Amino acid sequence: MARIVMKFGGTSMAGMERIRNVAARVKHVVDQGNEVAVVVSAMAGETDRLVGFCKEASPLYDPAEYDVVVAAGEQVTSGLLAMTLKAMDVDARSWLGWQLPIRTVEAHAKARIESFETQALIAAMARGQVAVIPGFQGMMEDGRIATLGRGGSDTSAVAVAAAVKADRCDIYTDVDGVYTTDPRIVSRARKLDMITYEEMLELASVGSKVLQTRSVALAMKEKVRVQVLSSFDDPTQEDLPGTLIVGEEEIEGSGMENQLITGIAVDKNEAKVIVTRVPDRPGGVASIFGPLAEASINVDMIIQNDSKDREETDVTFTVPRSDLARSVDILEANKATIGFNRLITDVEVAKLSVVGVGMRSHAGVAATMFRTLADRGINIEAISTSEIKVSVLIDEDETELAVRVLHTAYGLDAEPAA
Ligand code: ADP
Ligand code: ASP
Ligand code: MG
Repeated sequence: MARIVMKFGGTSMAGMERIRNVAARVKHVVDQGNEVAVVVSAMAGETDRLVGFCKEASPLYDPAEYDVVVAAGEQVTSGLLAMTLKAMDVDARSWLGWQLPIRTVEAHAKARIESFETQALIAAMARGQVAVIPGFQGMMEDGRIATLGRGGSDTSAVAVAAAVKADRCDIYTDVDGVYTTDPRIVSRARKLDMITYEEMLELASVGSKVLQTRSVALAMKEKVRVQVLSSFDDPTQEDLPGTLIVGEEEIEGSGMENQLITGIAVDKNEAKVIVTRVPDRPGGVASIFGPLAEASINVDMIIQNDSKDREETDVTFTVPRSDLARSVDILEANKATIGFNRLITDVEVAKLSVVGVGMRSHAGVAATMFRTLADRGINIEAISTSEIKVSVLIDEDETELAVRVLHTAYGLDAEPAA
């Protein structure tokens, strides 16, 4: 017997037929004698629909009421799944975020989980009752409902698994595992049997939305065994071939350490800003990024062009597209202090990142990337690196071609089907 947390995403919960399929899978795991908690997302598209209503109600909506509205999607699916399980003679009940409760920090729409009451939950599971928990939601200190940011049900699932000390946290989604790149964009993407927490964390943070970044960080910290699987396979099939997220030591010896690059991710949510002719003196760059930081704007890639022949420099950087207008306002308001000439912005850019722990011990990853892109005439507008990642900013129109050629260049293409 094991204690298992199963999480089902939006596509898996979209409509009663799929919910019945989910229930059959849960029943199968329960029938094997396991203690089970299930975390569910809202039906696919539902959260977007609810967000749309909020925007329509008031462009400057109250974030506390936004949370009340958008958390509703998961309330519906948790109730429906509990009902469906009972109709199949599986004992089950729903536990809303405020009923457990799952306590979060005071931050509407992007709350972090702070603590988790597990007593009632563990007692229910021990009695053989399936606990169905709506993902994405928790309760703040003041008793109001909070949501965890888009894609937050993954984090709910890992938090439940950590809190009840589950043997496994199985994340069922609409693909059968983590691939070398988004399989919906590159048909030759290859499924990975295993990936390290660190690589998954980097891939998620640079655009692979298969798991919410925070869920991976939490799993790594709490050593939760996470597996990504398809919810569309036969519900009674044993040993589904998903992707296991593991510590680096588990990968050693598996042969995978010879793989230089594990995955490629794309992020189209960034915008580029060029601040031209900034006086090249100590404090020049601080005068740009200080006010942006004060406004909680996350600056990602940064390049400062050297200017040996002038006392001025151009500074290029990226910010989230959703923060571009605010960034421009802030820089204009600080124009006298910064002393720049012009602001140039571009939203038609994409950040492409290659990730792999193999980079630690092998040189030449960045060089291969630059050469491969150059051979196709793709211009690199900015670069940033970390220990296990190289990212480049390119023209958005060239994204698919760039991902495909890099996928081939790093030897990631799947064997063609026989
Ligand atoms: P869910 O609703 O189950 O949470 P998501 O839509 O959030 O599902 O995440 C699954 C999607 O992630 C897939 O449909 C796929 O298009 C996308 N994806 C992006 N990068 C990858 C990757 N490297 N491997 C697998 N899926 C990926
Ligand atoms: N329903 C929420 C969203 O669409 C949370 C989730 O599905 O993970 O963002
Ligand atoms: Mg998701």
